[in-house]
Amino acid sequence: MATLPSLTDLALSAFEPLAAELGEPRFAGKNLRRWVFERHARDFAAMSDLSKRFRAALAERFVVRRTAIAADRADPGGTRAFVLRLADGKTIETVLIPEEERRTVCVSTQVGCPVACVFCASGLDGLIRNLTPGEIIEQVLVVQEALPPGESVTNVVVMGIGEPTMNLPALEQALATWNDPAGLGLGARRITISTVGFPARIDRLAALKKEFGLAISLHAPRQELREKLLPNAGGILLRDLLAATRRWFDATGRRVTFEYVLLDGINASEREATELAALLRGFPCHVNLIPVNPVDGLPYRRPAPDAIDRFKAILLGAGLDATVRHPRGDGIAAACGQLRLKVEQDESRATTPRA
Ligand code: SF4
Repeated sequence: MATLPSLTDLALSAFEPLAAELGEPRFAGKNLRRWVFERHARDFAAMSDLSKRFRAALAERFVVRRTAIAADRADPGGTRAFVLRLADGKTIETVLIPEEERRTVCVSTQVGCPVACVFCASGLDGLIRNLTPGEIIEQVLVVQEALPPGESVTNVVVMGIGEPTMNLPALEQALATWNDPAGLGLGARRITISTVGFPARIDRLAALKKEFGLAISLHAPRQELREKLLPNAGGILLRDLLAATRRWFDATGRRVTFEYVLLDGINASEREATELAALLRGFPCHVNLIPVNPVDGLPYRRPAPDAIDRFKAILLGAGLDATVRHPRGDGIAAACGQLRLKVEQDESRATTPRA
C-alpha cells in the first residue's frame, strides 16, 4: 500500500490553499502549519483548534510523520549522533553538536552520496536516493524534541550525508521552512550550506538573496589532486569554483569557508599549504582545516600534530584566516556517516531484525 505524504513535506505557502481546498477558512491552514512546525504535533488528535471535519479530511490525505530514531550515541563532549530510519527503511545520520550556548544540528540531504570523496564513509555505496523536503526538515524537529526542556536548536549546518546542491529543490524548501518565521524562524546567518561547489548551483543559492553561510569542500589546491580526492566533482574547475564563490560574496556579503580535510601523505604537505595559500590569497574567506577521521577499511590517516601546525602556519603567514577543527565524536563514529554505516553493518550481521 502506498504511504501517504507527510505534512512536513508541504511548503509553508501550501497550507492555506490546502485548507481552502478542503472547505475550511484560510486561517485554519495557518493553524495547521503552526501545529506541524511550531507546536510539534505528532498526531491529528493533538490539533485541538482544528475542526473534526478538517482533521478527518487531512487524515485521508496525509500523515503526521516523525522520522524514527534507530540509534542515538553521545560522546563525553556532548556530541550526539542519531541514525534515523526513514519510512522506506533507509537510514540517514543527523548530529547534534552542543557548544556553549549553541545547539547545532548537522543534517543530511541524501541517502548515500554521489560525490564519493575517497576518504568518506558516506560515499562508499554512491547515491541511493534524495531525501524529500520533509525528511530534511524533520531532522531539526527530531533533534529539537530530543533536547532537554529549555534548550533549543540554534544553528543548522547542511553538512551531513549527501551533496545538498544535488537535491536543490528539496534543499531550498528546507532552507525556507527553517528560516521563515512561519516555519522554524532560524535566522539565515545561523544556517550554513556545505557543498563541493557546482558553480551554477552556488549562483542559484546566491539568487535567494539570503545571508546563509556557505562552506566549500575544497580539500586540494590543485585540479588534478582534487579530481583524485573528489572523483565525481571532477567536472568542476577550480577557477570556476572560485569565481562562483566570489559572486556569492558579492551577492550575500558573507565570506566563504573553505573546508580542507588533511590526509597524511596526500594533501597535507608544505607544498599543498603553499599552493593553497597562493590560490586563496586576498580572497574573503576562512579556511577550516580538518584532520581526517579514519574510516574502517579506508587507508587515510591524520597528519602528525606538528605537520598540521606547519600547514596552518603557512596559511596564516600568507594573511589567510585559518583554524584547525578538531574532529568531534570520534568515539561514536560521528564523522560523515560513520555511525549510520556501523548500524547498517551491525544489522546486516544480525540474524534477527531490529525492533
Ligand atoms: S564528504 Fe560529503 S560530499 Fe564527499 S562523499 Fe562524503 S557526504 Fe558526499
